[in-house]
Amino acid sequence: MAVRKRLKDLTFLERIYLPEIAKGLAQTLGQMFKPHFTLEYPEVKFQPEGSYRGRPVLVEEEDGSERCVACGLCSRVCPALAIEVQAAETDREKERYPEKFEINMLRCIFCGLCEEVCPEEAIVMSKDYELAFTNREAAIYGKDKLLVPIAQLQDRITFLRSYK
Ligand code: SF4
Ligand code: SF4
Repeated sequence: MAVRKRLKDLTFLERIYLPEIAKGLAQTLGQMFKPHFTLEYPEVKFQPEGSYRGRPVLVEEEDGSERCVACGLCSRVCPALAIEVQAAETDREKERYPEKFEINMLRCIFCGLCEEVCPEEAIVMSKDYELAFTNREAAIYGKDKLLVPIAQLQDRITFLRSYK
């Protein structure tokens, strides 16, 4: 147990805290030359791996078509009731598409269940972690924000196929 000296027993240097200041400076200098684990965000962005679960997005094929067939499974499994899908018929036989597909990002908990149940690999977790809203309406993402070209989602799709 450390024994505290009485004031009259302290040297002059101890009274002006010089040894403690020197110890603090040495600690600071030592830290300056150690590897950095923090990023200077937002100037330097975090680059996640394929296993990262950012906001869910819809896959847009190379020809601009959407993979989603509006089966509604993701909406039914979502524990946060964040997904709303409305189906409509396409010109192709027995094919449907989501006339309306919305995710309420204030509700989404990034669990990835929608991605797991989707039979078409049409909804996947992206690397996008930058979400900021100024009102509740802005947090409801429609297809204009949800559809992402497949080329930007390859890391995640490769990761998903590696363990399925
Ligand atoms: S990640 Fe989870 S909470 Fe978010 S939309 Fe998908 S199922 Fe719902
Ligand atoms: S994203 Fe997948 S699970 Fe959800 S409605 Fe579309 S096809 Fe069905």
